[in-house]
Amino acid sequence: MQAPVLGIVIPCYNESEVLPITINALQKHLSDWIRNGKISNESFVLFIDDGSRDDTWRQIERIHQHDARFQGIKLAHNVGHQHALHAGLMEGYEAADCLVSVDADLQDDLDIIETFVKQFQAGVDIVYGVRTDRTSDSWFKRTSAQWFYRLEKALGVETIYNHADFRLMSRRAVAGLAAYPERNLFLRGLVPTLGFQTSEVPYTRAERLAGESKYPLRKMVALAWDGVTSFSVRPIKLLFFLSLFMVVVSGGFVVYTLYRFAEGETMSGWASLMLSIWFIGGLQLFGIGLIGEYVGKIFSEVKRRPSYTIEETLK
Ligand code: UDP
Ligand code: MG
Repeated sequence: MQAPVLGIVIPCYNESEVLPITINALQKHLSDWIRNGKISNESFVLFIDDGSRDDTWRQIERIHQHDARFQGIKLAHNVGHQHALHAGLMEGYEAADCLVSVDADLQDDLDIIETFVKQFQAGVDIVYGVRTDRTSDSWFKRTSAQWFYRLEKALGVETIYNHADFRLMSRRAVAGLAAYPERNLFLRGLVPTLGFQTSEVPYTRAERLAGESKYPLRKMVALAWDGVTSFSVRPIKLLFFLSLFMVVVSGGFVVYTLYRFAEGETMSGWASLMLSIWFIGGLQLFGIGLIGEYVGKIFSEVKRRPSYTIEETLK
């Protein structure tokens, strides 16, 4: 069987500290795989510079001049990891038989890409890299991730446990993804909805080799929230059940009050009145806020703005 053309897509945001190490490792791996006939010599690496403000793009230009297998796309501004990765998949899939997405910091194990490609050749369209050992992540990141997976499951969203965008996709799988018009991207949730034959390959996630994480808590929470609201309306449905419960409880109160009234008692109570006003008011605001989140999603979807703009291409 002919060796497939592999494209490795790497979103980069201010990664100049780690990029030289990454490029070195990739050069070595690409050469090895090509020499051993695992992948075609037309295989390439596609860097997506996600509006970096440091030396990242200059480094990509430099390596492209030396080694044309290294290609680059410079986005006009920072659009975030998911959109940068999406841009790379969209701009890269026509030239490749399969695409692998990797982070610039080499936390994902490049060695197992070979296994990915083997599975692809055996007919699998989507191969998920799954972390078995997360001790390199902080306790907080591990625990919050576990809770997130549980939440997704409870809400009926299909997600792959401990998988974080390190995966192989065949050209036709990415073409399938290209047909999705959505702007709120949570690729980990979107890719499983494509169908196709899939498999999982375990690996140990390493520490970031250099530079710092570009995912502060704020972005992690935003991503998780996108993961919920882009795939499930169950939170609004739960709101409906909450309202039913409140109706039943208040019905009970009405009966109780009338009963006491019939006994000739009027009930006083500043505390109970204040508490219920604040409680009900809070619940209502919560409900409006929750619906507002979905309305906001609709708003950003109907505008149909492009999810990225390309400033420069090196191919
Ligand atoms: N990234 C990006 N745009 C952003 C933030 C991050 O392209 O706005 C890239 C980043 O350069 C890296 C990948 O997304 O290649 C994952 O980011 P990071 O390693 O910082 O996340 P973590 O591993 O800490 O979750
Ligand atoms: Mg990382």
